[in-house]
Amino acid sequence: VDGGVVATTSVLGALVRSVAGGAVPVDTLVPVGSSPETYEPAPQDVVRLSHARLVVLNGAGLEVWLEKLLRAAASQQASILVLSDGIVVSPSSLPAAAGRSQSARAFLNPHLWLDPIYAQAYVRRIQTALVRQFPAQARVINQNTAAELARLQQLHRWIQAQIATVPPSKRAMLTFHDAWYYFDKRYGIRDLGAIESSPGKEPSAAEFAALVDRAKANHVRAIFAEPEFSRKLADQLAASAGTKTVIDLYDDSLGTEPGMDSYEGMMHHDVSAIVAGLKI
Ligand SMILES: [Zn+2]
Repeated sequence: VDGGVVATTSVLGALVRSVAGGAVPVDTLVPVGSSPETYEPAPQDVVRLSHARLVVLNGAGLEVWLEKLLRAAASQQASILVLSDGIVVSPSSLPAAAGRSQSARAFLNPHLWLDPIYAQAYVRRIQTALVRQFPAQARVINQNTAAELARLQQLHRWIQAQIATVPPSKRAMLTFHDAWYYFDKRYGIRDLGAIESSPGKEPSAAEFAALVDRAKANHVRAIFAEPEFSRKLADQLAASAGTKTVIDLYDDSLGTEPGMDSYEGMMHHDVSAIVAGLKI
């Protein structure tokens, strides 16, 4: 988009659109249904970036492919907004040192946006950056921001009420990848870890056996996974631990189904699926 905003993922793009409204054009790089952690950029991504006035990324190791892309785009004009900066203490936020952030990924978890309170912090940062880049649109941007912050607060209260319907002993999640760490912390759910300890890394036989033991010891009733990844390992773990698999969580990407094209729509779907899975 000429002179507009480019966000790296569909979820971040949805948050940016909620603030930008129709006032500023917004484009995204990683297509819906793809993983931003294993994304391989397309040639047209360089073109998109080179035309952007503002590039919005998550950082904290999510977009390890972006630094090379930004260099190739050589977009001298573009401002860069790293949404996670200062929220997680990042030793090497993109795009300063992408090489280091890959190793930093072991102790950095980038999935802050799945906690609506952190999503509010993201929205405030998007507001500040958009007003700075597009001052003529400030009034619309500020109105949109207020409305989005209110929607996120309402979502937060709704999630609290939903989780409250799950017996405390059943509030534990074992997932395919580590997307729900901050969400779990916010809502008092025990995070029992993930099948993949880092993006694309399958567990060894010993690690897999430990996951089965952990699932059994905690009486886990469902293994949670996402449609963009193969369900094979989640199904194997569920079969070995005598549990079910919930494979339709959307976290790193929005979905294509009706109502799934907004952050709130995605979260409503996910929380309903999580609560149903925990109650089995
Ligand atoms: Zn992820």
